[in-house]
Amino acid sequence: MKRILVTGGAGFIGSHLCEYLLGLGHEVLCVDNYFTGSKRNIEHLRDCPRFEVLRHDVTIPLYVEVDEIYNLACPASPVHYQHDPVQTTKTSVHGAINMLGLAKRLKARILQASTSEVYGDPEEHPQRESYWGNVNPIGPRACYDEGKRCAETLFFDYHRQHGVPIKVIRIFNTYGPRMHPDDGRVVSNFIVQALRGDPLTIYGDGSQTRSFCYVDDLVRGMVQFMETPAEEPGPVNLGNPGEFTILELAETVLRLTGSESPIVFRPLPQDDPRRRRPDIGRADSLFGWRPGVPLATGLERTIDHFRDVLGHRPMRRLA
Ligand code: NAD
Ligand code: UDP
Ligand code: UDP
Repeated sequence: MKRILVTGGAGFIGSHLCEYLLGLGHEVLCVDNYFTGSKRNIEHLRDCPRFEVLRHDVTIPLYVEVDEIYNLACPASPVHYQHDPVQTTKTSVHGAINMLGLAKRLKARILQASTSEVYGDPEEHPQRESYWGNVNPIGPRACYDEGKRCAETLFFDYHRQHGVPIKVIRIFNTYGPRMHPDDGRVVSNFIVQALRGDPLTIYGDGSQTRSFCYVDDLVRGMVQFMETPAEEPGPVNLGNPGEFTILELAETVLRLTGSESPIVFRPLPQDDPRRRRPDIGRADSLFGWRPGVPLATGLERTIDHFRDVLGHRPMRRLA
């Protein structure tokens, strides 16, 4: 049994990771400032004696004793990370410094939840880990993209300079139960819109592509990578290589919900990447990871979750 710190543990992915690690018999310390996460996401874990929660902002130093660290604290949806862009960069950069300082003192393994956004609007397709990316450093997405890129730099420098055992993953669009219904991401938006009979809002003409990974597949990959030999720092792409246009996603959500919502087209946000698909050869060869949940299956589970959420409480209407 290990004692494991999960920052951002009350968020969408973090709450699934806490649950998975508890299921493996570990002790879990969840640290979160509840900016985009919520106590509701971890409510079902509170009775477990091996689970502990600390309200804390990772931009502030943290002194705890743990064996391993998963650093997920950071708003992930464009609506949330652009709400206070300076704080987003601080969370990625100061958060990385503090968690790396902690890992250095403890000689603990630390995994960084980086992102496919480090590839920006990619000129290489599909994206391999060797690609350096195409990011606008001064655009509205830069606080997130460049913050995450700088965090990767810090991880590799703490590794080379101080011998900290690091694991860097680049997560591609992930979806599933406990996504924030108002966070503006495409999967949650379309499902909520379809269930309420509101129009599905496609930004641009819907020909841009994304690859959607179900959260259980991702979490399994994160833990598998953490357990690989210390000499392997990554970065490693984790995502589902199935690539869909946003229009295809809208049509699939309409079919699976049985909704008669119309589709409407809205302006494409600035710097919106044209396409994205992970090359997952490295994860496969290093630790035999491949996603197993097809899009339709994952969407059905996510739709069930949102049916419950929408049935229980009123929500702010989306754009
Ligand atoms: P989320 O917004 O649901 O979770 C982020 C969590 O971090 C929230 O609980 C939030 O309250 C917490 N947090 C934010 N700032 C903090 C701070 N300063 N101190 C402490 N806690 C803070 O998002 P998510 O989708 O679960 O993403 C988790 C991680 O995975 C993020 O680092 C994100 O960048 C990364 N990621 C996610 C995706 C995706 O598709 N979901 C893709 C790529 C990378
Ligand atoms: N830090 C922390 N917890 C620890 C050890 C360090 O939060 O257990 C923070 C510390 O406050 C510092 C940062 O991590 O700001 C970087 O630590 P490091 O040892 O690399 O740098 P230094 O303390 O020499 O600035
Ligand atoms: N998108 C859309 N309608 C929405 C929300 C998003 O068409 O209601 C588009 C968005 O412009 C982008 C894609 O869907 O092209 C994925 O957006 P998301 O915010 O989920 O993730 P990211 O852009 O960070 O990959």
